[in-house]
Amino acid sequence: MIAHHPAVFLDRDGTLMEEVHYCNDPAKVRILEGVREGLLRLQQAGFRNIIVTNQSGIARGVISLAQYEAVQARLFELLGHHLIDATYFCAEGPDNPSPRRKPGPGMLWEARDAHALDLTRSWLIGDKTSDIQSGLAAGVRSILVHTGYGATEPPDAACHVAKDFACAVDFILNHRDGR
Ligand SMILES: [Mg+2]
Repeated sequence: MIAHHPAVFLDRDGTLMEEVHYCNDPAKVRILEGVREGLLRLQQAGFRNIIVTNQSGIARGVISLAQYEAVQARLFELLGHHLIDATYFCAEGPDNPSPRRKPGPGMLWEARDAHALDLTRSWLIGDKTSDIQSGLAAGVRSILVHTGYGATEPPDAACHVAKDFACAVDFILNHRDGR
């Protein structure tokens, strides 16, 4: 029998690292405060840490694939490679109605199938309504953080609103398994 793991799906820009409009330069990568420690706490609690990131700058021609990869490499260099289990990105823009692009649930489903994830015990953390909608569409409890664009997003759909990543992790660790 396959063991199904709970995951935390992580938006990247504005959630793990500072929001930079279409970040195409690894020199601009700044990890937000408390993110490294938070990812470690999630990992130690048995969660898989999975990045799900819309990168429409690629389809728009603002970010090349090589630049996206350089930014990811810098992120992992700063975070440490062991804290993230997998990354899914969607290069499409809003004109392409791909179910992979958030607010669609496609990247979460891909991750579920590839990593034997139990979505009913999983969470999502993001700074935009489209992140929250993506989580909800996959049946995943979703937390809006007030970093990045989060402070100006309506909180309605989120199951919880957290000041920052560390507070979101606190909430998850206090409410896992429906407690
Ligand atoms: Mg974001």
